[in-house]
Amino acid sequence: MAKYKINYEEEKCIGCGTCAALCPDNWEMQGDKAKPKKTVLGEAGCNKEAEESCPVNCIHVTEQ
Ligand code: SF4
Repeated sequence: MAKYKINYEEEKCIGCGTCAALCPDNWEMQGDKAKPKKTVLGEAGCNKEAEESCPVNCIHVTEQ
């Protein structure tokens, strides 16, 4: 089964909230930064939308 890994460059996050709005299953805001709930997933799902919509391109979803 495919696995997806999320690499997140937290230092680049500007806290816009887009990822948490598009993908609340796996992204939440903690203060002025986003946090992924899980970084290894069986399905990329909405994390792909978060990756594509992040304005500073700090979310990277890769298939393992
Ligand atoms: S979309 Fe990107 S910049 Fe915006 S809160 Fe999420 S990780 Fe941070």
